[in-house]
Amino acid sequence: MAGVKEEKTNYIKFLGTAGARFVMIKQLRASGGLWVSCGASNILIDPGPGSIVRCASSRPKLDPGKLDAIILTHRHLDHANDINVMIEAMTEGGFKKRGVVFCPSDALGDNSVILRHAAGFPEKIQIIKANRSYRAGDFSFTTSMPHIHPCETYGLKFNIKNTSVGLISDTRYFPELVDFYKTDILVIAVVFYEPRQGIDHLSLKEAEMIIAELKPRKAVLTHFGMTMLKAKPLLQAQRLSRALGVEVIAAYDGMTLDL
Ligand SMILES: [Zn+2]
Ligand SMILES: [Zn+2]
Repeated sequence: MAGVKEEKTNYIKFLGTAGARFVMIKQLRASGGLWVSCGASNILIDPGPGSIVRCASSRPKLDPGKLDAIILTHRHLDHANDINVMIEAMTEGGFKKRGVVFCPSDALGDNSVILRHAAGFPEKIQIIKANRSYRAGDFSFTTSMPHIHPCETYGLKFNIKNTSVGLISDTRYFPELVDFYKTDILVIAVVFYEPRQGIDHLSLKEAEMIIAELKPRKAVLTHFGMTMLKAKPLLQAQRLSRALGVEVIAAYDGMTLDL
């Protein structure tokens, strides 16, 4: 039929590439998280501020009513701000009980990021723990060891068709990180250009060490803080590609990785 396009499946779309506070507050980069399409299933990871806006303004539009799951790697605002509105969207305003929300235990409880009225809308809220596997529709994922970050935080690993994808969420660098993230495609949250003592985020230097050791087929830098933006992520990615002999790219808002 004219005007009907075949929908793409098996891709990761970056609804945001902002990391930490100031890039998010000023929206120098968007902060909508990652939309993963895997076969017939759709997953949203870390819906930060503006996630719902980015879904609606995406071309083609992304319909949150087709989400099978929402995953929070941790409760920080740049990862979880839009969780309630995305739950409402996933469940068609709460009228259709569907979808699973995965989050660490400290995202719930007394100081829950999920409002009480929204908590009843999904089919299930599943608390994630370290080194476990979970499934939603065609999509399954494994959680990493606990990251070193001010709240309970896990990275993820999943397969789309025959490609393995690792997602290193916020963490301080520690050598054992590489034990988990041996994947074809490695997405890394690189907040700082230079290592910064006492703040639990990765710097470009540390990302370089991880890529050099794991040698993924493709490394994707994202979640940029101010110092990374000033250092021009595109140039830094090109420099790392040459230095390491690995394809390194800098994510941009709206970028789609087809798998
Ligand atoms: Zn973050
Ligand atoms: Zn964080």
